Amino acid sequence: MASACDRCGRRAVIHIRYSGRHLCRDHFLDFYVRRVRRELSSGRRIERRVVVAVSGGKDSMALLHALYRILVPRRVELVAVVVDEGIAGYRDRGLGIVRSYAEDLDVELALQSFREDIGATLDDIMARRPPRGACSYCGVFRRHLINSAAMACGADVVATGHTLDDMAQTGLMNFLRGDVDRIVRTGPHRWVQEGLVPRIMPLRWIPEKENMLYCHLLGVPHHHAECPYSGEAHRQMHRRIVLGVEADTPGSRHAILNATERIVDLYMAATSPPSLSRCTRCGAPSNRDVCMRCRYIEELGLGEDV
Ligand code: SF4
Ligand code: ZN
Repeated sequence: MASACDRCGRRAVIHIRYSGRHLCRDHFLDFYVRRVRRELSSGRRIERRVVVAVSGGKDSMALLHALYRILVPRRVELVAVVVDEGIAGYRDRGLGIVRSYAEDLDVELALQSFREDIGATLDDIMARRPPRGACSYCGVFRRHLINSAAMACGADVVATGHTLDDMAQTGLMNFLRGDVDRIVRTGPHRWVQEGLVPRIMPLRWIPEKENMLYCHLLGVPHHHAECPYSGEAHRQMHRRIVLGVEADTPGSRHAILNATERIVDLYMAATSPPSLSRCTRCGAPSNRDVCMRCRYIEELGLGEDV
């Protein structure tokens, strides 16, 4: 027999292991939106415009829907930014879904592409058997495009669809590297730095599975395809570890994220914001003379013969 909602006794649609609760449709949706609202009000001030980084997957589409419900009534404008990395058979589907959903919601869509920005698709890059995995290049080139789009439209913040699972995996990866600077840089950003639009992560306390349920209950379109490069060993290993500890001890993902928060708090109390200089090649904000994007462009020989 289906379990009953702990709040109202109606049929539960989810058992939340980390809190032990059963919730019905309405109480789950209420719980979901409350966490997004709390995250929005605890972070940077949002007054005019938010750029939402969307891919067409369940997490970013749930984010777009939730922000639409919460922010549009407050007269905040949303701009959905989608980056076409050039991944054949994968990105095209996501683009179609985002395009038609943005049209339905009457949200402005800004399309960015690797081909236009760096003269090559991610598939072109990977066909050359470069020294790094696809996600290293993809992340750096994509962040640059999203930030440029946000700067161009004068956004207060960039909202990304990072989930509790993503945050726990990244946190664990950074712990194991002993990389405190990267823990602080991951975001959400507490500092404003010239040339960088601060990043917020309104879903960071929400597990992936709950984004899927949110989309399912509200009919939010999304695609399920997995990026062909997502099987890269490093991230997958951390994913497996996080899933394993969570299955064994529910609440472990929250514990990892709480630990990274505490580190950021202590770091903030002990030091002033890292000052960024400008990349000597492209002028983008960077903590080194030459930014990562320009290094990768050089490493890949882009702009020479692609
Ligand atoms: Fe890019 Fe890696 Fe994500 Fe694929 S899995 S879209 S390569 S970051
Ligand atoms: Zn640069």
